[in-house]
Amino acid sequence: MTRIIDCMPLAPETGVCAEHGAYQFRYQAMGSRFYVADTCPQCAAALKIKEQNEDAARRQREEQARVERKRCEAGVGLRYVQASFESFIAETNEQAKALSDCVAYAEHIAAGGHANLVMSGQVGTGKTMLACAMVNRLLATGRRVRIAKLGDIVRTIKDSWQKTGCKTETEIIRELVQLDLLVIDEVGQQRGTETELLLIFEIIDGRYQAMLPTVLISNLDKDGIRDAIGDRAFDRLRQDGGKLVAFNWGSMRGLRRTA
Ligand SMILES: [Zn+2]
Repeated sequence: MTRIIDCMPLAPETGVCAEHGAYQFRYQAMGSRFYVADTCPQCAAALKIKEQNEDAARRQREEQARVERKRCEAGVGLRYVQASFESFIAETNEQAKALSDCVAYAEHIAAGGHANLVMSGQVGTGKTMLACAMVNRLLATGRRVRIAKLGDIVRTIKDSWQKTGCKTETEIIRELVQLDLLVIDEVGQQRGTETELLLIFEIIDGRYQAMLPTVLISNLDKDGIRDAIGDRAFDRLRQDGGKLVAFNWGSMRGLRRTA
């Protein structure tokens, strides 16, 4: 407790703490009056440290939550919200090469580069996880990044044709085109219709014109991806020095920690 008195006592008053024993009250001048702190000084110091630690822990939790929210908004699923390049444990030379290619690509984009990237390989080889690690890495540099499944992008655009009051097709495409990095996952899960191919081209071409990088993830090989997105979109991707990272190994799922 703190109270205020008009004049100092002749001798300091004392108290007894159950834990720390006898102690003297502390007095502090405040104008012509005095503050009296009559609590145990050791207890007061311990309480202050405890409060500081709790404050720091709370700030850290809030920062962590803010980072995770940003990652979720960028399309990173909960499974990979903590994914980083360190989460990917390379056990073969091929895996080490894929990892170092992805790290180099993220650095390239962070440095303002705009080359495209195709990540191609079987299900469960770690493509999406490494792509999320890239997204997480670039979000930390303040870039506007998004990862989305091709099917979801197409569905969102088609939905905009039906619903009123939501974003229009033009707005959705403009947003995708203006992102600092767009990662399109699950390319070629099904052969696109002519309309879908047009939408894909519009997005990829828009980004090409704006000199912004795009990453494609697919279970298909190069020819399969060309079939899935159409020749024109595929050519656009290659025109800005597109690189292909091959994930040529069996499923790693269940063998790896994912974060
Ligand atoms: Zn005490």
